[in-house]
Amino acid sequence: MTHNLSKLSQSDDFLNRHIGPDASQTAAMLHTIGANSLDDLIQQTVPASILRGEMPLSAPQSETTTLNRLRKIAAKNQIARSFIGAGYHGTITPPVILRNVLENPGWYTAYTPYQPEIAQGRLEALLNFQQMIIDLTGLELANASLLDEATAAAEAMAMCKRSARKNKSNTFFVDHNCHPQTIAVLKTRALSLGLEITVGNAETELADTPCFGVLIQYPATQGHVSSLAEVASQAKSQEAMTVVAADIMSLLLLTPPGEQGADIVVGSAQRFGVPMGFGGPHAAFFATRDSYKRSIPGRIIGVSIDSRGNKALRMAMQTREQHIRREKATSNICTSQALLAIMAVFYAIYHGPDGLKTIAQRINRIAGIFAAGLNQLGYNTNTTFFDTICIATDSASTELADKAEAALLNVRRGDKQLSVSFDETSTAEDIEQLWQIFAGDQAIPSVDQIDKELQNLPGIPTELQRNSSVLTHPVFHQYRSETEMLRYMNRLERKDIALNHSMIALGSCTMKLNATTEMIPITWPEFSNIHPFAPRSQTTGYLELIDELEQQLMACTGYDKFSMQPNAGSQGEYAGLLAIKRYHESRGDTARDICLIPSSAHGTNPASAAMAGMRVVIVSCDALGNVNIDDLKEKAERHADQLAALMVTYPSTHGVFEEGIRDICDITHQFGGQVYVDGANMNALVGLAAPGEFGADVSHLNLHKTFCIPHGGGGPGMGPIGVKAHLASFLPNHPVYPIEGLDQNNDTIAAATFGSAGILPISWAYISLMGAAGLKQATQVAILSANYVATRLNEHYPVLYTGRNGRVAHECIIDLRPLKESTGISEEDIAKRLMDYGFHAPTMSFPVPGTLMIEPTESESKVELDRFCEAMIHIRREIGRIESGQLPADNNPLVNAPHTLADIVGEWNRPYSREEAGFPVTNLSENKYWPTVNRIDNVFGDRNLICSCPPIESYLQD
Ligand SMILES: *Cc1c(COP(=O)(O)O)cnc(C)c1O
Repeated sequence: MTHNLSKLSQSDDFLNRHIGPDASQTAAMLHTIGANSLDDLIQQTVPASILRGEMPLSAPQSETTTLNRLRKIAAKNQIARSFIGAGYHGTITPPVILRNVLENPGWYTAYTPYQPEIAQGRLEALLNFQQMIIDLTGLELANASLLDEATAAAEAMAMCKRSARKNKSNTFFVDHNCHPQTIAVLKTRALSLGLEITVGNAETELADTPCFGVLIQYPATQGHVSSLAEVASQAKSQEAMTVVAADIMSLLLLTPPGEQGADIVVGSAQRFGVPMGFGGPHAAFFATRDSYKRSIPGRIIGVSIDSRGNKALRMAMQTREQHIRREKATSNICTSQALLAIMAVFYAIYHGPDGLKTIAQRINRIAGIFAAGLNQLGYNTNTTFFDTICIATDSASTELADKAEAALLNVRRGDKQLSVSFDETSTAEDIEQLWQIFAGDQAIPSVDQIDKELQNLPGIPTELQRNSSVLTHPVFHQYRSETEMLRYMNRLERKDIALNHSMIALGSCTMKLNATTEMIPITWPEFSNIHPFAPRSQTTGYLELIDELEQQLMACTGYDKFSMQPNAGSQGEYAGLLAIKRYHESRGDTARDICLIPSSAHGTNPASAAMAGMRVVIVSCDALGNVNIDDLKEKAERHADQLAALMVTYPSTHGVFEEGIRDICDITHQFGGQVYVDGANMNALVGLAAPGEFGADVSHLNLHKTFCIPHGGGGPGMGPIGVKAHLASFLPNHPVYPIEGLDQNNDTIAAATFGSAGILPISWAYISLMGAAGLKQATQVAILSANYVATRLNEHYPVLYTGRNGRVAHECIIDLRPLKESTGISEEDIAKRLMDYGFHAPTMSFPVPGTLMIEPTESESKVELDRFCEAMIHIRREIGRIESGQLPADNNPLVNAPHTLADIVGEWNRPYSREEAGFPVTNLSENKYWPTVNRIDNVFGDRNLICSCPPIESYLQD
């Protein structure tokens, strides 16, 4: 036998692992839809005017090669001991949480819990998170995470403006001891909202400054701790609201801001077990008083009941959010940080209140010993503190910091001062090494000696020591052993459907494979243990990775420059619109503030436009679902002098490639506007067409859709923006870790320079693994799969919109309104019935009410697509039995869905069998998923709003 090595494929070639259908399945699918080849299908589907040549990317790489290359890049990051603080701290992720949550597809591949009956596990975890934040902050209500501390502070400012109605001031007072990145984000946000920021000393200057709100950092960014009560009462006397940005760990020992008069408390939950990751992803928290519950931003988990009257969880008060309220929404945030919030609360559950207090006391004690030693060495330090010691250094600050850095001890640099923050990972050895830096030729003190003499809770004034108890609910006391913890997390995981169970065909959300090889690097210490403000020389690996990812994304989109700062699609939209605004301003075009948005747009588009200080004008769509070009022309012309931008999704949110996209861009440009293409649907474009080539000026990409970052049950995400060259100088920058080549005074839109940098290796790996050819094939197969599903379902459920040749793009909308008309069965009934078949429902009622939008993606095999289609067809037959009168309209498998085990084993007097209820198709016998609750009552939950764990007394009654 002769061997020909080049003809044999490598066993770890990735392409055919990522793409679901093999060659024979692809051929069969092409046959079903009546296309000769993938190329033939693309010719029929994508407008010829936008088709592009091959992307300038390398060839596909094997999984081993990709990981080896990433290891080399990672090795260029240098892990130092980090004492920089400023909102980011070392932490120990308990291994049981690392492996079973962060590294577990059962948790990280889940979708946002819009279908609560199959999401009770993560909803319970997030409700626990809210309870934890309520307890720690001393307030009454908390949301289920925001993107980072700085943007949470900006959301708080906007909420103060909305809520402080009696107060006509336009000024928000920011205490000068807030973290610098928070101040920068606030300044940008204020500018776009037409608000003023005054930075000053809140304790002395607030009384003389009319304002609608004030922000204080607690403890201060340089470490000292002082009472919030005077500032809060001064604010109150001015009808202004008090916002406190608090360190979550300190709240175990300090009097919570809620007990000192704060109206809103924000912060980061990072140091509860979530690695620094060069800036993210981490969960920010946001807590407020009950009276502000209607205006709190972000998702909130609430308690409701199911159709049996049992307690069940769901997302509450969604009417505040952008998908309903559009430009009047409380915030544009859609994807937040669910997975990281879940990790943080599991950390608290595992340690319990006593364990957490011990951690906090140890950190505080280390800081106290360090400060006492420095005082012995003749240095002046702050006398109040939790974990951060600020050292007066006069002119020696650079020299000392350099010396520390050379010893791989990163301290925070300041003007004639240095500060040192301790964390859970700090040790006595750290103290000694740091003392060495400051000691000069003096002998260093003894840690043991100082420890013996040091008082309890050093640095925390008696009147600020916390008296109130925290985390009293049973969940924070029951899981102390690893076995118990493992089982609790597994119990929650098993309540939910994620991608490790079945396909999740979410239109507009691209729930594709999140490959293991892509995920492995994110928990390597060289990526996870890097502080976002670490010296540049220690972050060479990250900078190389980010630079290469930027080149890759430029190749995919045709743009000239990228910013990685936006940490969700919504933030990308905001950053992109600000770049457009700055561009117009730079040309003296200051009147341009109108943003044209088609009626079919995602809710984040109008919400972001409002946040960027633009006025939204809606453009209508025609009967085929395309942008109404006449209406666009008319509105662009009418507002020619004020036209700032058009925001359009391509292919459209209706799932079709509009033929007129070039015209749409041209018309906008003709009247002086810039074109923002929402890149959420890039999965239909990569390798085939590029927004940067067909007329767009800027786009965000959802790396958590097209580029394989998992959804995490509602986050993390990443929303980098690409721009054409003329917008490149208006991309966001950062006050602490600036980007070279950009004006340092540019906008700042997130807390960290590169957003959630810690998850960028995922997208880098995906693009490297797939190469130019693989990415193009993925797009072709995504379009094939959508057309296959559309073809198979069309005779049972009409496909609402199609483009040329009757083709859809990478998703399709099926119209359920006629069925509702004839039988009363709604899109919701079908969504819930799919759960009985083991499927997560497609996107419901977006962008058209009464429809489902199905996006199968390239990663699902024909076998899985068929299983889904057969479930849908079988459900259609069940509806047929209602149409024909065989089943009553108010008692049938659809309106009673989902069915639980309690239904099946209980008394049975329904006009269909138990088998039909629970095992409607035979293939379920091998892999049956049981929802743990029945249909949840949404209205009850919003009328009787409960967003915390049930009161302690209720556990006693059980
Ligand atoms: C998902 C999505 C967004 C918002 O992205 P997030 O990351 O959730 O903020 C915007 N537009 C469209 C069309 C989307 O599908």
